[in-house]
Amino acid sequence: MKLKIKSYLKNLTPYPPGKTIDEIKRELNVSGKIYKFNSNESPLGPPEDVVKVIKKLAGEVHLYPEAGYIELKKAIAEEWGVSPSAVVLGNGSDEVIELVFKALIEPGDEVIFTQPSFLMYEKFSEIYGASIKKVPLSSAYTHDLEKILKNLSSRTKVIFLDHPHNPTGSTIKRENWQKFLRRVPEDVLVVIDEAYGDFITDPSVPLGIEFLKKGFPVMIIRTFSKSYGLAGLRLGYGITHSDFAQILDSLRQPFNLNILSYKAGITAIKNKKYLESLKNLIKDGREFLSSEFKKLGFRVLPSQANFIMVDFGKKAEDIYKKLMKKGILLRPLKAYGFPTFLRISIGVPEENRLLLKEIKNLL
Ligand code: PMP
Repeated sequence: MKLKIKSYLKNLTPYPPGKTIDEIKRELNVSGKIYKFNSNESPLGPPEDVVKVIKKLAGEVHLYPEAGYIELKKAIAEEWGVSPSAVVLGNGSDEVIELVFKALIEPGDEVIFTQPSFLMYEKFSEIYGASIKKVPLSSAYTHDLEKILKNLSSRTKVIFLDHPHNPTGSTIKRENWQKFLRRVPEDVLVVIDEAYGDFITDPSVPLGIEFLKKGFPVMIIRTFSKSYGLAGLRLGYGITHSDFAQILDSLRQPFNLNILSYKAGITAIKNKKYLESLKNLIKDGREFLSSEFKKLGFRVLPSQANFIMVDFGKKAEDIYKKLMKKGILLRPLKAYGFPTFLRISIGVPEENRLLLKEIKNLL
């Protein structure tokens, strides 16, 4: 075809997602259980009450959902002590991230983020023709806030900070956030992406809501994919100043949440028990796996997320490939620029023990 595709779309690269169970079974011809340590999903499966709600709703999928999604907005708003008008919902937090681009980015505008980071910041920058400024991780594998500030220009529209950072799991202390935010110009949005925010246990690490309430130009992004076991439903949200949230809300498709994710979200966010047990499981599993890998002589980066990043040196690729053949999936980090590291999502205790045993067998 002789279509004239937008010039800035030429360099677009596809997002490399973690492999799914079906893909692995197809590609490797394995039929047994597949262990997914590769996509940071919840190892507990979906909350039981959500499954019930979805089953009940199956007979209603011929109806459109309510386009205002007000009950879910209210439930989220109540959770965070904000107004429902400050909440914007998305088909996964991916969509909420895209809404930010829709609202703020004209081709040539600048977007700053850490290299590496969650890959969708780059992907959407490419799609919307943004000029990308990538700032390398600090030597401690954290966001380098000083360097980020040095990269600001009159064309900067957004700074994306995944916090905890993906793929390292690193975080930023309260005083460093404060120093940083005071120096960001008012017309630059700081997106604090808390996809893994529920797994922070260090009290010196703040949540972004604190800065939103202080009036800083920030937007918090959250997802039901990790802490509520609903990755397959696609449900995420943003919280920001109401005037901006209303603009974002007007840019989404009228029915961006399907009827299942809308109602599931309302049920999930009220289920404190599920979240509490998941948080405990992640904290314990993270400590266990980190200390066991360290005992084996591998470097493990300190993580406040539901995954850890481990340096297996020259053995990384071999471990990744051999475990994959056994149906045990880890996330290689070559695409993120860290070929010797693997990212490991925390599983339930039996899964963590099995992973450790299999890796020991390979050494
Ligand atoms: N932000 C970060 C930092 C992530 O790691 C992910 C998922 N890997 C997302 C956002 C997107 O999550 P979802 O679209 O499933 O809500």
